[in-house]
Amino acid sequence: DLVKDEDLSILSDLGAGNGGTVTKVYNKKRNCVMARKLILVDAKPSVRKQILRELQIMNDCNSPYIVGYYGCFPVDVHVGIVLELMDAGSLNDIYRHTGPIPIEVVGKVAEAVLHGLMYLYDVHRIIHRDIKPSNILANTKGEIKICDFGVSGELINSIANTFVGTSTYMSPERIQGAPYTIKSDVWSLGISLIELALGRFPFTDSQGNEEEEESEGEEEYDEDPTLPLSTQRPKISAPGESKKEKRKSKGVSLAGGGHTMSILDLLQHIVNEPAPRLVSKKKTFPSEATTFVEDCLYKDPNQRKSPQELLASDWISKSKVTQDDLKTWALSTITKD
Ligand code: ADP
Ligand code: MG
Repeated sequence: DLVKDEDLSILSDLGAGNGGTVTKVYNKKRNCVMARKLILVDAKPSVRKQILRELQIMNDCNSPYIVGYYGCFPVDVHVGIVLELMDAGSLNDIYRHTGPIPIEVVGKVAEAVLHGLMYLYDVHRIIHRDIKPSNILANTKGEIKICDFGVSGELINSIANTFVGTSTYMSPERIQGAPYTIKSDVWSLGISLIELALGRFPFTDSQGNEEEEESEGEEEYDEDPTLPLSTQRPKISAPGESKKEKRKSKGVSLAGGGHTMSILDLLQHIVNEPAPRLVSKKKTFPSEATTFVEDCLYKDPNQRKSPQELLASDWISKSKVTQDDLKTWALSTITKD
């Protein structure tokens, strides 16, 4: 009794990313709304079939921290996947719309992601591989869940073939070619948490030197108004383009406008420079939060803490935020316009 494409009628767009497009759909048979993701898969029929077979593992993934799965099917050149609709959207959508996420809520995001990662690994031996704010979803019941984990090796391959796999949430050891472990997901979580708490991607020229943030209005989130929100990638300033240096070199060289770091520069930066930290001149974060993020971002994966250790940390175990609080927060993000 898995959902079929003919049961669904299209309601509206939810977003588009590297791998596909996501649509809000109505399921006539079950009289409810769902999310349908279409992934372009440029592969022969045999590979396509293999992908659909591998995706069936998602049927057995049942956890309050994993976005629900209802079925998959071929749709011309795409693979369609039907998922639980998360009506508050992704944490990426939310912070770009509302600004920095309150730090107590960020703590609950961390907790949900860690539970989700542990479930996937302990029960199914699955490593997520793509933890980032757009793969962490919230709903107005106050639930936070993860999606888009690497269940299908063939799907990972065929998406990688279209060269969209390079992620800026990638850990230093992954960049250097080490295999994925659950510790690489912990790194990606650490980067994501800083992004949510600061309201901007952490690898920028103002890393550890936030004079820029002070003059900034609450409205600046590295957005390009010409792009739909969901297709925006974080903007990276090139090395040597810090504000100080820009000021120094004023009138000397003003070539180009965007000064975005190339993907190779960024990867090199992640490997060679100290990890970003949860600090801001604008606000003080609780030391438990700062320590937690530090424990996620040891560049040496052996020093980096495991999901179990992180769940036992003070920031998570002493949180007083309830699901009711999260519900109130989630509702406030969709009504705020
Ligand atoms: P990415 O994760 O790189 O943004 P995706 O194609 O996975 O690309 O998703 C695109 C967008 O669709 C997400 O950023 C999110 O806003 C939205 N989305 C994905 N899945 C769901 C879902 N189950 N419920 C609601 N929105 C979703
Ligand atoms: Mg996604």
